[in-house]
Amino acid sequence: MTFEEIKRLDEQYVMHSYSRFPVAIDHGKGATLWDVDGNEYIDFTSGIGVASLGHADEGWQKAVADQAGRLAHISNLFYTEPYAKAAQQLCLRTGMANVMFANSGAEANEAMIKLARKWSFDKYGKGRGTVITLWNSFHGRTITTLAATGQDKFHNYFFPFTEGFRYAHANDIESVEAVAGHDVCAVMLELVQGEGGVLPLEQEFVQKTADLCAKRDWLLLIDEVQTGVGRTGTLFAFQQYGIQPDAVSFAKGIAGGLPFGGVMAGGTCKDVFTPGVHGTTFGGNPIAAAAACHVLERLDDSLLAQVVEKGAYLRAQVEELNLPCLGRTRGLGLMIGVEVKPGWTNGALAAKLIENGLLVLTAGPGLRFLPPLTITQEEMDKGLAVLRSVLA
Ligand SMILES: *Cc1c(COP(=O)(O)O)cnc(C)c1O
Repeated sequence: MTFEEIKRLDEQYVMHSYSRFPVAIDHGKGATLWDVDGNEYIDFTSGIGVASLGHADEGWQKAVADQAGRLAHISNLFYTEPYAKAAQQLCLRTGMANVMFANSGAEANEAMIKLARKWSFDKYGKGRGTVITLWNSFHGRTITTLAATGQDKFHNYFFPFTEGFRYAHANDIESVEAVAGHDVCAVMLELVQGEGGVLPLEQEFVQKTADLCAKRDWLLLIDEVQTGVGRTGTLFAFQQYGIQPDAVSFAKGIAGGLPFGGVMAGGTCKDVFTPGVHGTTFGGNPIAAAAACHVLERLDDSLLAQVVEKGAYLRAQVEELNLPCLGRTRGLGLMIGVEVKPGWTNGALAAKLIENGLLVLTAGPGLRFLPPLTITQEEMDKGLAVLRSVLA
C-alpha cells in the first residue's frame, strides 16, 4: 500500500487519538528505518524507548521466533521457563527479591501502587493508602496512573479519578515533607522525569527522600519504565543513585519491541501479593519473556559502558553544533533532552527533522532522543548531520 492509502484507511477506521507524523514506517535495521516509499530515516526514538537493541536485531529475532515455534501463550496458571528466567536475571542484577510481570508501563505502575497499598494495609490496616508523587511526573494512562501523574493537563475529562495521590516538587525535600501525613504509604518517583522533559533528579534529593521513607516507614517506589533496561548506562537508573528501592517498575525497553513490563519487589514487600490478589492474562507471556531474557543477556557491562560513551558523544556533538534554535542538553546515558530556545516550538522542529530523515521525540518543552542502545557511530553521525543541515 502507498502512504496515502494507509493514511486514508487509518483516518476512516482508527480513533483520532494520535496526531501522527505524515510517515508510514515499513521496516528497519538497527537504528535505520525505511518508510513505505523507500525513504531512509535515522531513529533517535526506538519507538519511545522500546526497541532497545534496534530494529530487526538478529539475536532478538531468533529468540522470539524460537519461542513462537514452541509456545506462544499458556497463562499464569502454569509455569514456564522464560518467565522464571527473566525474573531471575532481573533479581540477580538488581538486588531485588522477586518480580511480577505485566504488559505495559501503566500496568506495571498500577501493580506497584497496589503492592504498596496492600503492604501498608497488611501492616497498618485501612487509611494509609496515599502515595506521594512529583509534579511534572508521568506514570501512565489508566485512571489510577493518570491520578499518580503530577500534571494538571492529565486530570481532565475522566472523572472521578482514583483518590490517594499528593504531589511534591522535584528536588525540594521540604515540599515532600509538606504533603506528608499519617495516611501516606509510599513515595513514587521517576529518577529522570521522561515525558516531563528529561529532568534528572538530584542525587541529594533522592537520598533525602530515601531517608524520609525509612524514617516514616513509607515504601520508596521507583518508576523505571523509561529509565530502566540500560537506557541510562546502568541496567536500572537507581543503581547510579546509591539507593535500594522497595519496588521498581519497568516496561518500554525490556523485551526489545514486544509489550512487556512488570514490577520488582525488594525484601520489604516480596510476599505482599498472594494467590488471587493480583493477576493478568497476558502478563509474563512466554514470547515476550523470551525476548526479555535475550535483551538482558545482551545488556552486559560492555554494552552498558557504550551507552554512557554514546550518550556523552551525542550530547557533546549537539552542543558543539551550537544551533540557533537549540540550547543545552541534559539526561543520563542515551536518554537525552535538548532545550528548545524561545521563539521555536519543539513540535515544529521535530516535524522538520522527521521530514528530513531523523526521527526524534519531544518531551516537556524540549526535544528528546532515545536512540536504540545499539546505535552505531555511523548512524549517530548521520543523525547529527540531519540536525545540522535542517536546523542551522
Ligand atoms: C511510558 C511511561 C509510562 C507508561 O507506559 P505505557 O507502556 O505507555 O503504559 C509510565 N511511566 C513512565 C516513566 C513512562 O515513561
